[in-house]
Amino acid sequence: MQYVSTRGNTRPHTFSEAVEAGLAPDGGLFLPDSLPDISSKLASWASLSYAELAAEFFQLFAPEIPADEWKAMTKEAYAKFDSPDVAPLRKITDKTYVLELFHGPTLAFKDFALQLLGLLYKRQTKMSGKHLAVLGATSGDTGSAAIHGCMGQDGIDIFILYPIGRVAPLQERQMACTGASNVYAIPVPGTFDDAQRVVKEIFGDTAFSQSINLSAVNSINIARVLAQCVYYIWAWLKLPEGARSTVEFVVPTGNFGNVMAGWLAQQMGLPCGGFRVATNHNDILYRFFNSGEYRQGDVMPSHAPSMDIQAASNFERYLYFILDQDPAKVREIMIRMKGGEAVSLPPPAVSSFRASRMDDATIPKVIAQMWNDWQYVLDPHTACAFTDMATDRVSVVLATASPAKFPEVVTQATGLEPTHPTLQALKSKPLHTYPLDATSQAVKAFIVAHVG
Ligand SMILES: *Cc1c(COP(=O)(O)O)cnc(C)c1O
Repeated sequence: MQYVSTRGNTRPHTFSEAVEAGLAPDGGLFLPDSLPDISSKLASWASLSYAELAAEFFQLFAPEIPADEWKAMTKEAYAKFDSPDVAPLRKITDKTYVLELFHGPTLAFKDFALQLLGLLYKRQTKMSGKHLAVLGATSGDTGSAAIHGCMGQDGIDIFILYPIGRVAPLQERQMACTGASNVYAIPVPGTFDDAQRVVKEIFGDTAFSQSINLSAVNSINIARVLAQCVYYIWAWLKLPEGARSTVEFVVPTGNFGNVMAGWLAQQMGLPCGGFRVATNHNDILYRFFNSGEYRQGDVMPSHAPSMDIQAASNFERYLYFILDQDPAKVREIMIRMKGGEAVSLPPPAVSSFRASRMDDATIPKVIAQMWNDWQYVLDPHTACAFTDMATDRVSVVLATASPAKFPEVVTQATGLEPTHPTLQALKSKPLHTYPLDATSQAVKAFIVAHVG
């Protein structure tokens, strides 16, 4: 299997090359050149552990990595999760299940991909003997998960940009209190989209990124999207058989990476019903799925900061499919979007998506109500999913973070003080940050000065 760019001006890459590059050199995103059909494998996958399932799945996408290495890597990555199921599926009512994706080291779903990505980086630096500099932008959870996947690893430095004052205090502590000498937590002025723009500009300078052996760790890395496919398959296999073919996965969405993974799994033959894209008041995707118009607004801070995004970077992967896998059409649309233009797209003949949005004022109310009605505590991102529930089929809500990561709003809503031992320990550790201007020049100079 080879990996091609959504923009069509990149030679085909192997899995390992695509993972190492992150973003394709032509500015596009990597996708497999064809999708395998998993439908005939599902029955035999039902009895596997989470790590075994992940190993089976990844072998389809990276046959160049031997099966026993995949087994060892997935075992190591998911052993750090604090639930034996890794991704437990909890039944709330006959119609509503919650897939808890927050049992990893940083208590958000990003750990599923980034624990594994850290091990892939380690494997690659060992094989190539080359030092790797990992660069990413985060609205909070990606950065902390990436840092926890890479910290302390020989041959790797990790640089994470985040918007000052716009990530939750505990998220910042997860990034800046590791004490690891290969970790650089870099606050920059502006919003997540500004931080993301700087990262994209730096990768756009291919001479620079190649000379420093730079890899992108934000949600655009193909390994992340693939790692996230696994828990959709896992949850589907855990559902009662009668619920499977119509189940709606409800996905709190920002960069469109999580829900894109589910949709890809469906394209590979996972026979599920569809997806609801759940946004907060940064509702560009809600508007797109209801009107076909993709128009960027200003980012407004919310109780669900990891969804405070108006330029969903993984959306380009979906565009590629709805534009008939024609890179010329993707290039044209991306140029218009970059110029700030509102772009209208023809609705696909069959859509697996619907969308919902939630106001900021509603988020604490939903947390309170779910606690009162079902004694289940939601984090503010997951709360955004609990609106407009389907009544005629089963919903699986993806719980993207632990409530303990966002104690302020959860306490305000429920009176409970959610906590977790790993977060408790962070509070007494010193914070190391490296504030920079939100320009590619400033960040490049910093990387050059600090790369090991
Ligand atoms: C990253 C994140 C999201 C958004 O996921 P995308 O893949 O960017 O759509 C939602 N909730 C939490 C807690 C997150 O960390």
